[in-house]
Amino acid sequence: MFVMKKKKVAIVGAGIVGASAAYVLSKEPDLDITIYDEGIGQGTSAAAGIISPWLSKRRNKKWYRMVKEGAAFYPTFLKEVVSGQDIPPAVYRKVGTLLFKKNPKHLEDLLKIGIKRREAAPEIGSLAILSAEEIRSKIPLYTGTASALWASGGARVDGRSLVELLLEKAVQNGAQLKKERVEALGITEKNYRLQTQIEEDTYEEVVLAIAAWLPSLLEPLGYKVDIRPQKGQLMELQLSQTDTHNWPVIMPEGETDIIPFEGGRLIVGATHENDQGFDLEIDEVMLQEMLAETADLFSHQLKTESISAYRSGTRAYTSDFAPFFGHVPGMTGVYAASGLGSTGLTAGPLVGHELAQLVMKKPTVLPLEDYPIERYITAEC
Ligand SMILES: Cc1cc2nc3c(=O)[nH]c(=O)nc-3n(C[C@H](O)[C@H](O)[C@H](O)COP(=O)(O)OP(=O)(O)OC[C@H]3O[C@@H](n4cnc5c(N)ncnc54)[C@H](O)[C@@H]3O)c2cc1C
Repeated sequence: MFVMKKKKVAIVGAGIVGASAAYVLSKEPDLDITIYDEGIGQGTSAAAGIISPWLSKRRNKKWYRMVKEGAAFYPTFLKEVVSGQDIPPAVYRKVGTLLFKKNPKHLEDLLKIGIKRREAAPEIGSLAILSAEEIRSKIPLYTGTASALWASGGARVDGRSLVELLLEKAVQNGAQLKKERVEALGITEKNYRLQTQIEEDTYEEVVLAIAAWLPSLLEPLGYKVDIRPQKGQLMELQLSQTDTHNWPVIMPEGETDIIPFEGGRLIVGATHENDQGFDLEIDEVMLQEMLAETADLFSHQLKTESISAYRSGTRAYTSDFAPFFGHVPGMTGVYAASGLGSTGLTAGPLVGHELAQLVMKKPTVLPLEDYPIERYITAEC
């Protein structure tokens, strides 16, 4: 009997981008998928979990298109991942977003922006400026006096649980998962060679979904890679006897956001540290100072004693803050994405899907020319 030889594809990095690509590709019967992931410093499992890109003041239209499409892609993609069942609320839930501004005029401006943007992004849902009383009806612990802009389409996602779910499905579909670091990427006559500390194997196609670590595999091959790491830290709080299931995501002005999950669990953070490289050490004092900033909204009810865990991870940025994905120049069959910065959890499933489309030689949703990889990965002369 003739057995068709499957094409060997490696996915390096299993954060949200790599895990999404792996899931999509694992469904292809003619592909043999192997996933490599070291996991240390992963942005996805450290992330806060906010999916609410529409009201950002950032003006980059291509970035906005990616995150807008990324947010819209989430429910459709997840519904497919769970085969039409209910999406587990501990993984992803549309709970709405509340945006605070110190100046009430800015709230009005933001409402106008939201109404305009909703024409092309109906997933923003309903928009309204809520009074402190109305906020309290959603978040009984709220003690502030400020109003906030409500967007019902905002969601929160637990990056770690989502990646676990995607990898579980990929493995069920026949993919192999190796929790190993790829030490080197080599080029053979017809294939690409991946080397770990344990073994070495060759692949016809390789997807590099290694975010801030992209230079480590491409620079030894003579490429210059415009990617730098940014450290992010946050904390988890466990509130007793508090039903946080329906709380919206809370985004005050500044760095400290509050992301409620099931069972009284809150995420508070995150820092954006540009001078720390790949360091992952927790600075408890810095985080506790961030927690103190929530006093305006919760009059010191979010206490340091409620902190149940700290997390830190690494974001990836290009020098102009723009994300990219596509074919690695000069390496047929090698694809990469990076530079997703602080909104990579929002864009990640779509970007992973796009990389999978490239492997399958199918069209992408986002135009490749808007996210030009060749601007950030160049051959060093
Ligand atoms: C504290 C924090 C809060 C954030 N909050 C949000 C948020 O609320 N909303 C939002 O949209 N985004 C948020 N982000 C950004 C988002 O998390 C990232 O942009 C996104 O997760 C990047 O996904 P990725 O798959 O590209 O990379 P990562 O999730 O970083 O995954 C890359 C993986 O590749 C692995 N790897 C690297 N090199 C190798 C190698 N040689 N061999 C094998 N494996 C390797 C790493 O170990 C890692 O597991 C946050 C980030 C941080 C750090």
